[in-house]
Amino acid sequence: MTHHHTQARLLIVGPQGSGKGTQGVRIAEAFGIPAISTGDVFRAAVAAGSDLGQQVKAIIEAGDLVPDELTSAVVRERLSQGDAAGGFLLDGYPRNLGQVRDLDAFLEDRGEALDAVIELSVPRDESITRLSLRAQEQGRTDDTEEIIANRLSIYERETAPILEVYRERGIVDAVDGVGSLDEITARIVAALEARGFVRSAAA
Ligand code: AMP
Repeated sequence: MTHHHTQARLLIVGPQGSGKGTQGVRIAEAFGIPAISTGDVFRAAVAAGSDLGQQVKAIIEAGDLVPDELTSAVVRERLSQGDAAGGFLLDGYPRNLGQVRDLDAFLEDRGEALDAVIELSVPRDESITRLSLRAQEQGRTDDTEEIIANRLSIYERETAPILEVYRERGIVDAVDGVGSLDEITARIVAALEARGFVRSAAA
């Protein structure tokens, strides 16, 4: 029997500069689910000067990871909001094996699991070029050369291994992240449609 899911529980993973934020928003829109980016949540908290923002500001500016307990608590709270009940797209979380365990436990309690993980592959040189451009355009304070190098090495050391866990579950779709925005979106949509997910909007 073929399953036609209307809503999906998705994760998009890729190195900084892979375009996962942009693609995440597009894919979430196409499938009618909220895009949840922990980086965006943290940056908004810093900008607002909230308690959370004050706790994470220095960590983010150094390009280090916010502690798992705090990050997982933020995600649990966000996923508990009504709009994430039928599906969601996570961008930037989980980012290490501890966070994979936290997310598994949370979803298991709800009788849920991730349905698919999009791995956006972009060569390291290309990531660095894109990040330097974004630094000039958006003036993100964590986009300096040294901090970019730190973030990419954390990705390779801590984040890449989470893909092994998900690969063993058979839920990873590797997508080539080099091309135009529309081409890359189409590749991801095709991969998800091949898993039986149905777009909710004409994208
Ligand atoms: P991003 O926009 O996803 O690159 O996230 C920006 C910054 O937010 C990261 O460099 C980390 O400092 C922090 N951050 C975002 N997501 C996480 C996470 N899942 N765990 C720990 N820190 C995170």
